[in-house]
Amino acid sequence: MRKNLLVFILLCSAYSVFAQGPETVIPKPASVQLTDGIYTYGDDPEVKVTYAKDKLAPEAYELSVTRRGVRIKVSSPSGEFYARQTLDQMTCGGRHKQIPCCEINDAPRFPYRGLHVDVSRHFRSVDFLKKQIDAMAMFKMNRMHLHLTDAAGWRMQIDAYPRLTSFAAWRPQPTWKEWWAGKRLYADEGEEGAFGGYYTKEQMRELVEYARERHIEVIPEIEMPSHSEEVLAAYPELGCSSQAYKDSDFCVGNEAVFEFLETVLTEVMDVFPSKYIHIGGDEAGKQHWKTCPKCQQRMKDEGLAGVDELQSYMIRRIERFVNSKGRHIIGWDEILQGGLAPEATVMSWRGTEGGIKAMEQGHDVIMTPGRYCYLDHAQDAPFQEPESIGGYLPLDSVYVYEPVEASMPEDKVHHLLGVQANLWSEYIVTDSHAEYMYWPRAIALAETGWSMPQNKDIKDFRNRVLPMLVRLREMGYSTFDLENEYGERKLAQTGLDHKARGKKVTYNKPIQDWYQANWEKTFTDGVIGGWTYSDNRWQGFLSDIDVTIDLESVQQINYVGGTFMQLIGPGVFMPSKVDILVSEDGADYQLIATLWNDVPTTAEQLLFKDFHTICNVKARYVRYHAYRSTMRGFLFLDEIVVN
Ligand SMILES: [Zn+2]
Repeated sequence: MRKNLLVFILLCSAYSVFAQGPETVIPKPASVQLTDGIYTYGDDPEVKVTYAKDKLAPEAYELSVTRRGVRIKVSSPSGEFYARQTLDQMTCGGRHKQIPCCEINDAPRFPYRGLHVDVSRHFRSVDFLKKQIDAMAMFKMNRMHLHLTDAAGWRMQIDAYPRLTSFAAWRPQPTWKEWWAGKRLYADEGEEGAFGGYYTKEQMRELVEYARERHIEVIPEIEMPSHSEEVLAAYPELGCSSQAYKDSDFCVGNEAVFEFLETVLTEVMDVFPSKYIHIGGDEAGKQHWKTCPKCQQRMKDEGLAGVDELQSYMIRRIERFVNSKGRHIIGWDEILQGGLAPEATVMSWRGTEGGIKAMEQGHDVIMTPGRYCYLDHAQDAPFQEPESIGGYLPLDSVYVYEPVEASMPEDKVHHLLGVQANLWSEYIVTDSHAEYMYWPRAIALAETGWSMPQNKDIKDFRNRVLPMLVRLREMGYSTFDLENEYGERKLAQTGLDHKARGKKVTYNKPIQDWYQANWEKTFTDGVIGGWTYSDNRWQGFLSDIDVTIDLESVQQINYVGGTFMQLIGPGVFMPSKVDILVSEDGADYQLIATLWNDVPTTAEQLLFKDFHTICNVKARYVRYHAYRSTMRGFLFLDEIVVN
């Protein structure tokens, strides 16, 4: 820590000469003009604040630094708060006693700039939440979305249903991974070896107030109709089977379910004054609804055509209840299925299509597409990162996300409220690991939420964020070490030239629907896959891969090879073997190599393996046949290199 402090002071001093001014601020202000001179102050800068109600938007501010002091003009306390955040960054937390004179006019691009915390998979302390709120405030984020309930544990005290916290908040295993791999049982509070926890209402009220003082609204999420195994273990009568450990969805045919949800939501709304209440709505299996007599009766009574409409019935009914209390619901984009509740705001996570569809219907939308906003993916080369859910989402990929898409109808773009960074915590056991995943990637999204796209530049952002990370570490945050980032697979950055590049590939087994990448050009386009199979460079097969490349003329061949990846979590395996055959005429093929897999199918880390042969043959056609693993699952291949 002492060393960090020294680095921090040195950085602040270094910046005193050239850069410690408005151009270092994150998120990038809308407009900055340097004027002549430097303002030098003693203990604290002299700040004069004027409230001009009619001129500025609520979160906007004007900040002017002259030789005599700092003047701030705002229309609301949040504007003043953000102006002071900017000033805090320019003075490096008040340590730096000189500020270049400047005029800053600033306002957010979007009203909603969120950070999501999953406290169900692993319980987080109130101190952790407050600490993240402090960092959010520095970067002008204004919504904390608390994922309070899920199968792995219920996390908020509800007086009417005490078993939610005396039982459903505890489990016999400390980590989600062990719990998930086991029988997924719950435990009694206080029982020996019970892990978990929950927040009292007092603690949540304290958190809400702490956040409010920093102009952040805490939005609670209560999951329905699915992700509710913990509720249905504590109160089995609320599931279709009425048996513990059988259901994950509430029984929509049962009136007691609505009584439960309305009672819970009433207590939740009593603690959280937020405009929005998140009601989940994602990933419902709906299986038991198809055979449950109560659900079937409900569908008959209400004239519902299927289980999607049954879910929609539930969400609409809950929305009416929440609206009756003067609040609004947010739901994950699955709430579009079966028809959207009339006032609902949609959080689009499975890509952006759901969000766009909701906007077209006149609904407000928050964009959280997994590809850019899911911080549970690894942020650097997986071999040097802690275990994660998979994927690869470095800082740059978060930063380049542009929420407004060309396909959005212009007259509906105002429905796009903003963006949110999500951190699902299945693999994130400790508070410090969670912090490491948030910072700096959440800062990148904060800038996307606040700054205009024409003011954004990735190189400039990296220059600004590096000293900011030093400061965050000095403040006690565990951040990712951006200075020592390894980055993308080297070949994925450069591409690869070889004899088969650009040559025609014939598929002896067809390309499948899931991961088509660059279609029939994928294996010879010279584009090498990155750390994740979802980067549109890897082609995925739930069968053998069997292709023939036509080199257009008979050539000397000394090398044929392709790289596969293995990631057993999502069921990606090496081929059991690869046969390589060559032919001069395309009729008679000669088997030149059979390459057997030697990677254990139990290896937990992300692995890559070349299945290649060194040879000395003349041929025009090369057939590459990879056999699907006996473990079944996916095969992923990015390129077949011939030289
Ligand atoms: Zn039912």
